[in-house]
Amino acid sequence: MENHKIYLDNAATTKILESAYHAMLPYFGEYFANPGGLHKMASDNRRAIAGARKTIADAIGATEREIYFTSGGTEADNWAIKGIADTAPANRKHIITTSIEHKAVMHTCEYLQRYRGFSVTYLPVCPQGTVNTEDLRRAITPQTALISVMFANNETGVLQPIKEIGEIAREHDIIFHTDGVQALGYVPIDVSELNIDMLSISSHKIYGPKGIGVLYVKDGIPIAPLLHGGNQERNRRAGTENVPGIIGFATALETVRKDMEEEARRLFTLTQLAIEGMLAMPLCRLNGDKIKRLPHIFNVSFENVDPEILQMLLDKQGIVVAGGAACTSGTDQVSHVLLAMGLDERQARGAIRISLGRYNTENHIKTLLAKLPPILEKLRNT
Ligand code: PLP
Repeated sequence: MENHKIYLDNAATTKILESAYHAMLPYFGEYFANPGGLHKMASDNRRAIAGARKTIADAIGATEREIYFTSGGTEADNWAIKGIADTAPANRKHIITTSIEHKAVMHTCEYLQRYRGFSVTYLPVCPQGTVNTEDLRRAITPQTALISVMFANNETGVLQPIKEIGEIAREHDIIFHTDGVQALGYVPIDVSELNIDMLSISSHKIYGPKGIGVLYVKDGIPIAPLLHGGNQERNRRAGTENVPGIIGFATALETVRKDMEEEARRLFTLTQLAIEGMLAMPLCRLNGDKIKRLPHIFNVSFENVDPEILQMLLDKQGIVVAGGAACTSGTDQVSHVLLAMGLDERQARGAIRISLGRYNTENHIKTLLAKLPPILEKLRNT
């Protein structure tokens, strides 16, 4: 990364930590063996994977046998939902999710609707971006096989009432999946305390390498494999293990956990400073709850401003932000998340997402707040 850049797009991806990078290197070199072999080189790598699995299990209050490595958050989400759809009895073909999920969940549910005869309820959210648990109770039917509600939203950072949702799912004997990709490393996640049956997490959002994630599956949850082949991951997820990725993910998680609370407090203070500063600018609105959110993400709209040009002009000044969702930018789509929160199309089009990380400082925020007003003025006058 160019050193002078102020990178405020950490929800899209993060720069790998030195600790994770260095921990991975030997597995590209000397320790290259396929862990499936019968020789010592293989069993050494199996042991390394077992250690990483334990680190990740400990971080979320799970046991090692409940941790399954995947190629990332997208695969974990696909697997959780399709894997339960595959084993659901014919009279339980109903899924409840929300209208603000990441596309990895949303498009998987749409696939099941279109090709597999499932019905899907997309719960609404309030203008602050949270699901109402009474709506969830009302949506449950005897046919409901799965509830999938994200832990925190990737565009707004808004947190959902996960513990309560988990309790409701348990009360009704329905499997509960949550996409914890953005929440991991920023808020405590204990799967048993929160009644979570399946949790998707991804390494590259917490300063680990890309292309590696985990699906936590609680013991006893009847999930069918997504990928068929070899007997890796206890016969549930075939494919030669991504050993460097697994080691890098576990090392990054171990590192971020060490100062998670302190870092979360620091980031929350910095984002509050940024939010206050922006709200003092004309025609700016915060999209999402100011408090019930992840410490590092927020979303703002500037009326009468094209966010793509704003993003471009900030980029020219060395400040990197995202227009709405990283995955939506460039495709001229309006954010489904912001529309679900009740913004009209014009407001939703004017949104940018700012997401901080451990390499950001107060000076970065001060620079952003200083550079924004003249850019906004220029954009509104042209
Ligand atoms: N879920 C959420 C909430 C995300 O923000 C993302 C990535 O942006 C994903 C899933 C997909 O994760 P991955 O990039 O590891 O496939």
